[in-house]
Amino acid sequence: MKITEKCAVSIHYRLSDAKGQLVESSFEGEPMLYLHGAENMIPGLEAALEGKEQGDVLDVTVDAEQGYGAYHDGLCQEVPLSAFGDIEDIVPGMRFIAETEMGQRPVQVTEVKDDVVIVDGNHPLAGQTLSFNVEVLEVRTATEEEVAHGHIHAGSSCGGHEHSHEGGCCGGGEHEHNHEGGCCSDDETKEAKEGCDGNGGCGCRH
Ligand SMILES: [Zn+2]
Repeated sequence: MKITEKCAVSIHYRLSDAKGQLVESSFEGEPMLYLHGAENMIPGLEAALEGKEQGDVLDVTVDAEQGYGAYHDGLCQEVPLSAFGDIEDIVPGMRFIAETEMGQRPVQVTEVKDDVVIVDGNHPLAGQTLSFNVEVLEVRTATEEEVAHGHIHAGSSCGGHEHSHEGGCCGGGEHEHNHEGGCCSDDETKEAKEGCDGNGGCGCRH
């Protein structure tokens, strides 16, 4: 069957950034399972998968607009070290939730100088043209429950958050800018639905 709305789709993918550098690959691990048409992944990739079927292999180039969005300078800001309170050893790479001009969002420390910490609230892949190499492993009709929840249940490869999918290939659901890592939409702003952890995992046992 061809991929269309309300399909549960399993893919392997390799993601490279604008410089051709490999960012992430699922080929060595579990495939990614997602609900097509539910904005579980970045728009450019979802659009490219529409109409594809099991066994298809495709190379997709996704510009920033259809990927993780433009880079916003305003999301890069200096924060006084004192604002971090009791947290010691602030080093580049650490992540926090911060108040920004675009509301609460995850930020990453990029630089520490004396008593000022520079944090960046942009997704690491914001502003970049991305290249995906995708193999469609399986396509099935999603269950009513999965459609209602907006994510896939059984055998999901991206349940929980036990591993970091930094720079993953999925979008962050309806909130355009919440693309905190994750090959699944782990939009914290999304309300957990009843009987479900809302993580797309799914924590629920149905
Ligand atoms: Zn669920």
